Amino acid sequence: MSQKQSSVLLIYTGGTIGMKEDPVNQALRPFDFSALMEEVPELRKFDLRIDSYTFDPLIDSSDVEPAMWQELASLIRDNYSKYDGFVVLHGTDTMAYSASALSFMLEGLAKPVIFTGSQLPIGRPRTDGKENLISSVEIAGAKAPDGSPMVPEVCIFFNSLLLRGNRSTKVDATGFEAFRSPNLPPLAEAGIDIRYNTDIIRRPPAGAFKAHCPLDTRVSILKVHPGITRQVVEDILLGSLTRAVIIETYGCGNAPSRSWFLDIVRESAARGKILLNVTQCLRGNVNMDLYATGKALKDAGVLCGGDITTESALGKLFFLMGNNNDNESVKAALEKDLRGEMSN
Ligand code: ASP
Repeated sequence: MSQKQSSVLLIYTGGTIGMKEDPVNQALRPFDFSALMEEVPELRKFDLRIDSYTFDPLIDSSDVEPAMWQELASLIRDNYSKYDGFVVLHGTDTMAYSASALSFMLEGLAKPVIFTGSQLPIGRPRTDGKENLISSVEIAGAKAPDGSPMVPEVCIFFNSLLLRGNRSTKVDATGFEAFRSPNLPPLAEAGIDIRYNTDIIRRPPAGAFKAHCPLDTRVSILKVHPGITRQVVEDILLGSLTRAVIIETYGCGNAPSRSWFLDIVRESAARGKILLNVTQCLRGNVNMDLYATGKALKDAGVLCGGDITTESALGKLFFLMGNNNDNESVKAALEKDLRGEMSN
């Protein structure tokens, strides 16, 4: 019995990957994704139907705003039943933020949503863009022997690694190995074949797919550092327009033990603000029971972010606060693993 041909929707939002050199004046101009098969003939080798959608205007990902995530989530929702998978071409600078946010906004996801981009424009010699695009399309259309999608998750594919989106972070500004997920092994690795790490790929959750578009952006990030001043800590932790603060701490979740610092944290918690402890380290997790300074934060009402990345913590807070009016429900969900973003 012949299987139905898989289909992939390629969504181009902007970024380096979509740039091509004009043969006349060498200026970079956006690639015409409606002529994708002519531009990247390698894609014909796959038994896939590929349609494309281009954002207007295209954006450098430094300009990404939550409204763009809402547009992306709505686009995927509106096309969900028509395609087997989605590839999102996106600038690398904020790709980890966007992939994280989308992982929370798309609940009950049972199809691949693969973000990719490149360090060199697709039309340049030595580009990493073609390889990233071709492998991402292959992964978005890949099926398990039972016909189900191989990777029903929001991911980032970059330089031969498929990473869970909400575990990823950009680690290199110029090199091709631009992304890593330090607290989770890759979900797949592309070599001669694409080898899937099926043990850690999340299976489609029970329940219907739903795109949650409301987001509440009243979040600040406080990065502690030697010499941080009382004024800065007060401004961020007690700011009247802030509903939640991600406190980026040292090591296992430690912060200055000076009494003025802890007093401000306590005051912030007493005012009902949601405070989340996330480590500045690339690998490992917050454990506020380990040192007295971490314990003091816990006692002051700060929640534990475990091994979540800052990018993921931001998307999780935007999503939870956008969909819950009371802070107690947000706090209860914050310390739980919702989309594979934290280790238990
Ligand atoms: N500034 C670009 C962006 O993030 C860089 C890139 O595409 O890699 O949109």
